[in-house]
Amino acid sequence: MNSIGKQVLNALKGEINEIDYQRYIKQLTYDESESKSNLAVYRAPNALIANWVRTKFADKIAHLFEIKTNIKPTVSILIQSAQSTTTAQSQAISSTPTERPSGSLLNPSYTFQNFVVGDSNNFAFIAAKNVSEKPGVVYNPLFIYGGVGLGKTHLMQSVGNVMLSQGKTVIYTSVEQFLNDFTRHLSNRTMDRFKDKYRKCDLLLIDDIQFLSNKNQIQEEFFHTFDALRNENKQIIITSDKPPKKIGGLEERLKSRFESGLVADIQPPELETKIEIIKKKCEINRVKLDREVINYVATIIENNTREIEGILSKLNAYSQLMGVDITIEFARNVLKEQMAEKRSNITTDLIMDTVAKELNIKPSEIRSKSRNSNIVYARRIAIYLARSLTPNSMPQLAQYFGMKDHTAVSHTMKKIQELMKNDEDFRMKIEELSNKVSIATPE
Ligand code: ADP
Ligand code: MG
Repeated sequence: MNSIGKQVLNALKGEINEIDYQRYIKQLTYDESESKSNLAVYRAPNALIANWVRTKFADKIAHLFEIKTNIKPTVSILIQSAQSTTTAQSQAISSTPTERPSGSLLNPSYTFQNFVVGDSNNFAFIAAKNVSEKPGVVYNPLFIYGGVGLGKTHLMQSVGNVMLSQGKTVIYTSVEQFLNDFTRHLSNRTMDRFKDKYRKCDLLLIDDIQFLSNKNQIQEEFFHTFDALRNENKQIIITSDKPPKKIGGLEERLKSRFESGLVADIQPPELETKIEIIKKKCEINRVKLDREVINYVATIIENNTREIEGILSKLNAYSQLMGVDITIEFARNVLKEQMAEKRSNITTDLIMDTVAKELNIKPSEIRSKSRNSNIVYARRIAIYLARSLTPNSMPQLAQYFGMKDHTAVSHTMKKIQELMKNDEDFRMKIEELSNKVSIATPE
């Protein structure tokens, strides 16, 4: 005779698809000694399966118990052996498909071919491309600036990879490395070797030059290196998080040198560009994601494209570990924590400000009684986000947005949900907005 717990799983088999059953439900064992009439305890082989069963099947399991015993228990999915789970997980996660460049080596995957061009980075891309075709001639130096993770290092190394393949001498360095090298050669009395190295290359790539700020001795040395290279028509490419003018604690003569070539900025990518970058990264890392998942990932990443690789390897590792395909539900589940972290501290005020800014209206208009269609649209979105992202109740929101009562809020929620279901662009827009709100959250 099967235990009640087992009978319930057998009954569940008839209600869910075979693959889900084999992958998740079959892995569970009923813990008879821990279970009570109002508590059903199952053990899963690892946290992922446990999590998955909890979110996807716990309600169904409870319901089946109720049918059989007339009592609807709390269903608890615990992990068999915590120890074996953690090792399995960390192993899977550490098998990251790509590695960051180390030392002065170039990352071979940072190529023009692998760089997705959009409005946000078009200018810098073309500049870098031109430089790679005519190094030392067109723009010297090329100064690329922009926020973290927007592709500055990728672009500068793309030029490096082109020239490297032509047998040219390329040096890629950070301010810190340059400084360490300088100090070492100075104390070893081998400054001529230092000069040989940095002044005789064909291409010098200096990443994150903002760190030169307030380091006077190295600024002096860098100034001479710079002039020596440029006098020989050797190409210099510099990146920074801000334009030359805005780098504090930097000698004026360096600022003007940096501005003497071409200064190109990179802006945060638009949604379409993010999507293309994700596709590219999938291709490079051989990760298979369908369109829906790609769109979802695009909406949850911030402007920092660096997050993409982390997310892909996480999805990939989890899916390999569990032997399942990466469906949209799976992705949402795996990335839920990531989103949850971002989503604490969200207030209705913050939502209103973000929506107003995004839709180019005033926050006060959202709360006004205006029937202007733009404003109604913005108001609906703000209400939807406030209801989804904050703990406010419908009556509270009705009051906040100056609506008659909670039924007006509920009506709005239904409208937006319907739109999201039928219009994928709209759904993505909403997800992107809710992500923006999450990012805008103060500490
Ligand atoms: P930054 O130096 O500006 O902080 P990186 O060059 O290190 O940014 O880029 C972060 C990650 O995002 C890298 O993996 C890079 O390949 C990727 N990336 C950024 N922009 C693009 C793009 N336009 N196309 C393809 N990959 C990109
Ligand atoms: Mg960088």
